Amino acid sequence: MLSRAQMLQRHTALNASQEDPDEDAQGNRYCLDCADKISADRRQAVPTAVRCTPCASRKEAERMAQKRQGIHHA
Ligand SMILES: [Zn+2]
Repeated sequence: MLSRAQMLQRHTALNASQEDPDEDAQGNRYCLDCADKISADRRQAVPTAVRCTPCASRKEAERMAQKRQGIHHA
């Protein structure tokens, strides 16, 4: 069972892992990596998306590679 302080810590860590979307005054959102406009289709599919599809895929692949590396070294 988690204490209140532990839960708060978890909550803060979760928030820190989320990145702020690059949005202009018109509500257009731009990829954090390549600055391409994120399409309305993608935003509808993934409302929290902060990157275009190619960059998000690449980022995910990097994350998975790091995870595998971590397991390899452990
Ligand atoms: Zn991009």
